[in-house]
Amino acid sequence: MTEIERRRTFAIISHPDAGKTTLTEKFLLFGGQIQVAGAVKNNKIKKTATSDWMDIEKQRGISVSTSVMEFDYNGYKVNILDTPGHQDFAEDTYRTLTAVDSAIIVVDSAKGVEAQTRKLMEVCRMRNTPVIIFINKMDREGRDPFDLLDELEEELNIHVRPLSWPINQGQRFKGVYNIYEQKLNLFTPNKQRVTEKVEIDINSNNLDEQVGAENASQLRDDLELVNGVYPEFDIESYRNAEVAPVFFGSALNNFGVQELLDCFVQIAPSPKPTKAEERMVEPTEPKFTGFIFKITANIDPNHRSCIAFCKVCSGKFVRNAPYHHIRLDKTVRFSSPTQFMAQRKSTVDEAYPGDIVGLPDNGIFKIGDTLTEGENIHFRGLPSFSPLLFKYIENDDPMKSKQFQKGIEQLMNEGVAQMFVNQFNNRRIIGTVGQLQFEVIQYRLEHEYNAKCRWEPVHLHKACWIESDDEQELENFKKRKYQYMAKDIEGRDVFLADSGYVLSMAEQDFKHIKFHFTSEF
Ligand code: GDP
Repeated sequence: MTEIERRRTFAIISHPDAGKTTLTEKFLLFGGQIQVAGAVKNNKIKKTATSDWMDIEKQRGISVSTSVMEFDYNGYKVNILDTPGHQDFAEDTYRTLTAVDSAIIVVDSAKGVEAQTRKLMEVCRMRNTPVIIFINKMDREGRDPFDLLDELEEELNIHVRPLSWPINQGQRFKGVYNIYEQKLNLFTPNKQRVTEKVEIDINSNNLDEQVGAENASQLRDDLELVNGVYPEFDIESYRNAEVAPVFFGSALNNFGVQELLDCFVQIAPSPKPTKAEERMVEPTEPKFTGFIFKITANIDPNHRSCIAFCKVCSGKFVRNAPYHHIRLDKTVRFSSPTQFMAQRKSTVDEAYPGDIVGLPDNGIFKIGDTLTEGENIHFRGLPSFSPLLFKYIENDDPMKSKQFQKGIEQLMNEGVAQMFVNQFNNRRIIGTVGQLQFEVIQYRLEHEYNAKCRWEPVHLHKACWIESDDEQELENFKKRKYQYMAKDIEGRDVFLADSGYVLSMAEQDFKHIKFHFTSEF
């Protein structure tokens, strides 16, 4: 119980450039995982140093894969699940969100809610994931804090409750008042280290002396307004995902970060029950269960090894214990499971609900696989969404067709992209969110599988998973549209609509068929 209750497993998510990486790094700094944050100049190298594994990301300096960072803080065990910064890998982020108990969304104070912020909030809402919002870059000239709060409520469709408050902003930004603990700590700005702080009573003249009389009276007025306008913070509403606590700060300058982290560990939920197809699984159940939410290749570029990330849902994971791999109906043991620290990984002997263990994977895992001590249950992952881009993939080296076949299969099991096999001509169509995913596939086929691929254009609008109670109509539809029918890797029927017009005609002509843009309904 104690082990479960002290765990905080969460993801920091944001629209690219809002400051997710910087905030993550500052958390590691406060968690004692790193001593100096290297944020100032070498953003790219910094990113490769902590959480990026693949060669391709080193070249490009973007974060492609997801990793885990753990540390102890004030008696809590904090597990941060990192997510790729580039929006072409959004699906990865969505899947990572299946493994967290809460999320922190970073928003740029000058830009407000951006496209990816909206989408990420939708995904959190699908699973009722509690969110905290961190409004970053208060050291820049941004928008008025009250306007930002209104925008969050409106655009993200959730109630907000500020738990810290900025003292001025831009060049005159002085720090943040901690509403949650009703105290003010002033820091000296420092990009790299944790600096000394001074505690100030905001009702004393000391505040006026420290931040200036104008700022002091503005802060007192603002706080009065905040407490008048927003209902008192209620931890249950937050944990039920009805209200999002909001914090202000500047991750780069270390302002508002400790306020956020201190409050986060106290209010964020410990591991919640996990929904399996058969039943709810409670974290306190004695027997181990877990699921794979992420597979990453090539941690060591010299060996083609994969690591499957397993989220422990119940019981205790123990090294070398026999576990049941449900999909393969096979007993598996892991002699060298790993846990992750900021810059290294180490072998782990046991892990508790909320923890993520890295399992060496030589191709036995697929995203969404369940492990148990024997019980036949299936955890449900996040559905696939209709991709935005489609291309035919062809083998470009006839001598290497085995390698090509194997490479494609494993990359799809890892969830690098989606694949649809056209039932008419048997050609494979790869669907992605962004162009970069095609490049990753090509690169990895070449470097990990020694296979070459070629892309050919295919003009498609949407992939629709179809269902109907009317078997006959479904059969008629498949016959009529046989050139556009495909199977996804789970073998489900998918209609590939080549235009919005064709899709709406199909919906009109086949009234008993439902067309879904996600794979689960
Ligand atoms: P990510 O793409 O969300 O991971 O964003 P990064 O953490 O890489 O930050 C994007 C850029 O914003 C970097 O150049 C950071 O140095 C900068 N940045 C992050 N936090 C702050 C902040 O509080 N103030 C200012 N002025 N810049 C920041």
